[in-house]
Amino acid sequence: MAGNTGAPLVLRLVAASVSVAEKAGAIVRNVFNSGELGVVEKDGKNDLQTQADRSAQECIVQSLSRQFPKVTIIGEEEPTGETVDESHLETRLSEEVLKVVCPQNLQSVKDEDVVVWVDPLDGTKEYTEGFLDHVTVLIGVAVNGKAVAGVINQPYYNYKAGPGATLGRTMWGIVGLGAFGVERLVPPADKRIVTTTRSHSNKLVTESIEAMQPDEVLRVGGAGHKVLLVIEGKAHAYVFATPGCKKWDTCAPEAILHALGGRLTDIHGNALQYHRDVKHPNTGGVLATYSDHDWYLSRMPESVKAAVKP
Ligand code: AMP
Ligand code: MG
Ligand code: MG
Repeated sequence: MAGNTGAPLVLRLVAASVSVAEKAGAIVRNVFNSGELGVVEKDGKNDLQTQADRSAQECIVQSLSRQFPKVTIIGEEEPTGETVDESHLETRLSEEVLKVVCPQNLQSVKDEDVVVWVDPLDGTKEYTEGFLDHVTVLIGVAVNGKAVAGVINQPYYNYKAGPGATLGRTMWGIVGLGAFGVERLVPPADKRIVTTTRSHSNKLVTESIEAMQPDEVLRVGGAGHKVLLVIEGKAHAYVFATPGCKKWDTCAPEAILHALGGRLTDIHGNALQYHRDVKHPNTGGVLATYSDHDWYLSRMPESVKAAVKP
């Protein structure tokens, strides 16, 4: 059990989250295969919840809270109130994580310093429309309000690669240590590629993207997916100049990006806060880059900045 190993809390949390995210990713695939998505509109047709969101959230929150009863865990979905399906629980720890040396500044973190932010299925709209590689499972670990560690499972990674390819992958990272299961790749130097939302666009989003003078715009689903595009050199920047994206969307991706040397802030350049009492929406928008972060900040139109306040 998690409580019995001598490893620091942050390492045990990440080790548990890697196993749990893999299980949640399998649940996401199983629900899709069943054909019964059980779609519910939370707030209109662009804010959906499916059986996969509900079951993956149960898997993650129940599995982690049983192992870490004193840690605050905030998940996107409301609890269903139904009896917990024990087959959704996962309490193994990833040995790969337990092998590493925890960064010095995170070795004595206590339960009360931690908030775990959970998006059981990021990219729900795209999931319901069959854009399966846009989907990720996100578990972010914040310590004293800062995103310090993250786990991302991409359940449909490789799904277009044919039957021989291994489906799905899990990445994790700790700021000050590095990231595993994903490699930083450099985007093309001869053009500027910007990624943004596919299904939650508006005038502010469009105006800010135009101001970046992109050669190419990748309109795709999921905050986790878009940060992965930045990490893997498919895009130079993820620009989302409107509220709508929440703390559970950014905590895990921010930590992994930061662990690899990138930056994620609001569109004014402010760090995002992840305390337990923080408001959930990232009201100041999101900007994620590997390099030239200040250039993107400087291009942001004043009218957009005035409308998208932290
Ligand atoms: P997207 O880039 O559209 O996939 O959005 C990234 C994350 O932010 C997803 O979890 C979305 O559900 C969430 N999000 C962004 N904009 C909105 C919005 N207007 N309403 C609800 N959720 C949103
Ligand atoms: Mg999300
Ligand atoms: Mg979600």
